[in-house]
Amino acid sequence: MNASRPVVLLIEDDPRIRRFLQPALEAEGYDLVEAETGQAGLVAASGRPPDLVLLDLGLPDMDGIEVTKRLREWSHAPILIISARGQEKDKVAALDAGADDYLTKPFGVPELLARLRATLRRKAAAGPSEEPVVKVGELTIDLAARRVTIGVREIHLTPTEFKLLALLASRPGRVFTHTLLLREVWGPLREDESHYLRVHMANLRQKIEREPARPRYLLTEQGVGYRLAAE
Ligand code: CA
Repeated sequence: MNASRPVVLLIEDDPRIRRFLQPALEAEGYDLVEAETGQAGLVAASGRPPDLVLLDLGLPDMDGIEVTKRLREWSHAPILIISARGQEKDKVAALDAGADDYLTKPFGVPELLARLRATLRRKAAAGPSEEPVVKVGELTIDLAARRVTIGVREIHLTPTEFKLLALLASRPGRVFTHTLLLREVWGPLREDESHYLRVHMANLRQKIEREPARPRYLLTEQGVGYRLAAE
């Protein structure tokens, strides 16, 4: 145990996946804590607060959505969901419940490590309100001045477009579900009006992207939502 090493809590019942992840995570300098059930994971998290949680959705005692909800009652640690194909609905529900990102099995170690680094970097950059200027490539979003530029060119956005972009920019790299974006930007009564989101996202891309059909900044997560590129 070393205080300077980030603590990663892995909640996963499949021993093959734990065996596959353990050496990679430890070699990368993470302090790994393992749990085989949701309950054991919650106990481990409260005993030793993790810097990041890697959470399997299909656990023997409770599903990952429930674990996410319980963790979010008191913990802000980033939660990275590990899901199998066919768990799309559950994955979206876990993201809605407060998980930060997901990986679909099977995934490679380099992809996992890149995602961990990006998530921990975002966490280190502190809370959204403490970061008034977000820069990604040529794109600069000044949340305090409500000003958006690409290089030196100022981009004029409608209030709704700005609200949508500002929300994505509050956590670059994090995936926001359709439901979450609709709820935050248009209100709880519009959670199912996904065409609002599609139309405004298309307009935003027209204004910001060089090639709106092949976006560099505003990325689509098929069947899940959108994210602002992290870098
Ligand atoms: Ca499982």
